[in-house]
This record gives sequence, C-alpha cells and structure tokens, in this order.
Amino acid sequence: MKAWDYEGVHVFAEDGSGHMGTYCNYCFVKACPGMDIEADNIAPIFATDESDYYPECEMCGGVFEYINLTEEGKAEVEDREFWNIVDANYTNRGGA
Ligand SMILES: [Zn+2]
Repeated sequence: MKAWDYEGVHVFAEDGSGHMGTYCNYCFVKACPGMDIEADNIAPIFATDESDYYPECEMCGGVFEYINLTEEGKAEVEDREFWNIVDANYTNRGGA
C-alpha cells in the first residue's frame, strides 16, 4: 500500500462543528450521498497515519488496520487480543 492510498475517511461537519463519522471508501458513498470525497471537510485515513487505535467504518465495521499504531495503541491491541482468546475459550467450553 502506498503512503497516499487510503481505504477510509474521517468526515467532518462542513461548518467545522466536529467529527461526523468514519467510513470506508465504499460506505462513504452510501453514508454521504453526493459528497465529494476530496472535499476539504473529508480527511483521508492514510497508511502513514498514527493513532492509539485502528479507525473503524461506522457502517460495515471494517477496521483500517493499515495505519500505524502508537506504542500505547499496540499495547492496547495486545491486551484486547489476549482477552478475546480467553473469551473464545470460555465460549467453546459451553459458557456464555
Ligand atoms: Zn464500510
């Protein structure tokens, strides 16, 4: 993936009042009909971005795992993966 490629965008209110949502390029078309993905209030999620967590598409739940995580973010993900495994083992034994 190239640094300038992106699979998702953050959408901000045109009047600058805040973050409206996060969508993958596919859902963006459905979530924001008629909006130009290259408009000033749309911020692409680039592969070079760094964040404490992976952004997620609000419509399809797709996770943009191609960005970089901060050290804090990496620790968080490892922690979550550990608990997911614990949960899965519990479910496999017939638990809730
Ligand atoms: Zn999506």
